[in-house]
Amino acid sequence: MNDILGVARQQVLEEGVPLDEEQALAILELPDDQVGHALALAHDVRMRWCGPAVEVEGIVSIKTGGCPEDCHFCSQSGRFHTPVRAVKLDIPALVRAAHQTAATGATEFCLVAAVRGPDERLMAQVRDAVAAIQAEVEINIACSLGILSREQGEELAGLGVHRYNHNLETARSHFPEVVTTHTWEERFETLELVREMGMEVCCGGIIGMGESLEQRAEFAAQLAELEPDEVPLNFLDPRPGTPFGELESPTAKDALRAIAAFRLALPRTVLRFAGGRELALGDLGTRQGVLGGINALIVGNYLTTLGRSPDEDLDLLTELKMPVKELSSTL
Ligand code: SF4
Repeated sequence: MNDILGVARQQVLEEGVPLDEEQALAILELPDDQVGHALALAHDVRMRWCGPAVEVEGIVSIKTGGCPEDCHFCSQSGRFHTPVRAVKLDIPALVRAAHQTAATGATEFCLVAAVRGPDERLMAQVRDAVAAIQAEVEINIACSLGILSREQGEELAGLGVHRYNHNLETARSHFPEVVTTHTWEERFETLELVREMGMEVCCGGIIGMGESLEQRAEFAAQLAELEPDEVPLNFLDPRPGTPFGELESPTAKDALRAIAAFRLALPRTVLRFAGGRELALGDLGTRQGVLGGINALIVGNYLTTLGRSPDEDLDLLTELKMPVKELSSTL
C-alpha cells in the first residue's frame, strides 16, 4: 500500500478512525527503515486520543498450573511437562501484594487463575479475596478466571470487579493451531458477557505463535471490532516443555511493527505491554514501546516469568514526563 504512513496520519491521527485490516497489514509489512516513523506516528496517536498518562497495573496468581486446557504457549497447562509449581492461596499475602502494587501508583490489581473457568471453590476464594482487598486497599480489582457462566459474570460484577481479562490470544483463523480444547467463539462469548454485565473488557493476545502477518493484521482488526477497554500485547516467550517451546520469539523489529500496527488499529484503547517484552525487545524495549503507542505497564513479575523491577519502569515514566494514571480518574 502506497504511503500507508501518510494515510494513517490523516485517518487515525487527525480523524480518529482506526486502521482496517488491510491497512494494519501494510504497517506490519513496512521495511525496517520505516519502523521508527511508524512508532513516532503511533506515539502521536496515543498522545492525541489517550493523553500522556500511563496506566500501571499489578497481577497476581491465585491458582497456578494444572490447567486442563492445552493452549500451546502456556506453561500452566497440566498437559505439558513444565517447571511451574502450584501455590496455595494465602489471603493476607494477597492483601500485602495489593498494598505493594498500590504503593507503586498502580490503579489495577488483577487476580489471575489458571483454569478453563472458575468452579464453586474458586469463586468462593475470589469472593473472599476481593472483600479482603477492598476492605484495606484503594485499588481497582480486575480478574482473569477464564470462561464464565452468566451467573458467574453477574456475581463478579456484583462484587465490584472493575475489569475482566480474557484474551482471544490470536486471530480467529489461527486459534485452532494454538488451542484445541476450547474455541475462539467460546472466549468471545465470555467477552460479550463481561461487557453486558458492565465490567470493563480487557482482551489481548500473543504475537509470534506461528501466525502469518496477514493473521496478525486479522487479529488487530478483530480486536478493533470488539473495542476492548484494554489490550494486553504479549510477545511469545517460548516456555520449555510446551508445544511452542521451540518457536523463536519475534524479532525486535517485528515486535515494534506490531506495537505500531495495534495502536493505529486501536487509537483509543489502553494498550498494555505485557509478557515477553524483555525477551523480544531487550532493556530498551520499554522506552521504545511507551514512545511508540503503549500506554500501560505491568509492574513487577508476570505470572510465571520474571519481569523488570518496578522502579526502572517508574523512573522511565518520570524521565519521559508521562504521569501515572490516577485512581480517582478511573473509579
Ligand atoms: S486456559 Fe489459560 S491457564 Fe489454561 S492452558 Fe490456556 S492460557 Fe494456560
